[in-house]
This record gives sequence, structure tokens and C-alpha cells, in this order.
Amino acid sequence: MAEMSIFSRIVAREIPADIVFESDRIIAFRDIAPKAPVHLLVVPKTEEYANVVELAAGDPALLAEMVAVARDLAVEHSDGDFRLIFNSGENAGQTVFHVHAHVLAGGLAEGTLGRE
Ligand code: 5GP
Repeated sequence: MAEMSIFSRIVAREIPADIVFESDRIIAFRDIAPKAPVHLLVVPKTEEYANVVELAAGDPALLAEMVAVARDLAVEHSDGDFRLIFNSGENAGQTVFHVHAHVLAGGLAEGTLGRE
């Protein structure tokens, strides 16, 4: 059997994480290397989809659930405004090929997308 992704190992409690939300299909936890005052990862429990393009084609309802969870977490952990990032492909900085959304919030400046 193929090795589990790092995020599936968090779902299975094989490695620890600061979990902030869990439902039957989704888990969310704090990023280990935060890039903003609030930096959460929203992750479907299935690792069937490597990136958001595959997820949107294969299970758009699950993608919509992730967006709703991101919104709720931004309200709970910040002022409700947030940035939702899906790195898609190595050249866009994706390192974990188990689809996940970065939820960034709290003190984000305008014009800070992309390089520096
Ligand atoms: P990507 O670069 O694939 O879009 O995002 C992967 C993210 O997962 C990175 O921001 C990285 O800091 C985070 N990450 C990698 N390994 C772990 C881990 O074991 N625990 C947690 N909480 N985050 C992780």
C-alpha cells in the first residue's frame, strides 16, 4: 500500500497537530510554520485528491465544505476576513500532495500576494 500522506497521519493521530476543527470529512489544524498571525490548514480527510483542480472535478461539494469551514475558522480565530490559498503544483510551492487550503488571517497587508 502507498505511504500515507503527512496529513492522513495527522487524521490518524499518528503525528500530533494543533487541531482546531474536525468533522466526518474535514480536519483543520495550525500550520507548523505559520506565515501569518492566523495560519490554518483545512484538509479533506481523504487523500484521493492531490490538488484543488482534482478536488473541484471529483467532489465539488467537498470543496464547498472546505470553503465554509475556512470562513467559520476565520470568524472564530480572527475578524472574519481571510485569504484562502491552494498551492497547486511544485512550481507554485506545493509540498504536500494531499489537497489542502491555507487559511491566512489577522493583519494581512494589501499587495502582499506572490513574491514578498
Ligand atoms: P504546501 O506547501 O504543500 O501548500 O503546504 C504544506 C504546508 O504544510 C506547509 O505550510 C507546512 O508548513 C505544513 N506542514 C508540513 N508538515 C506539517 C506537519 O507535520 N504539521 C503541520 N501542522 N503542518 C505541516
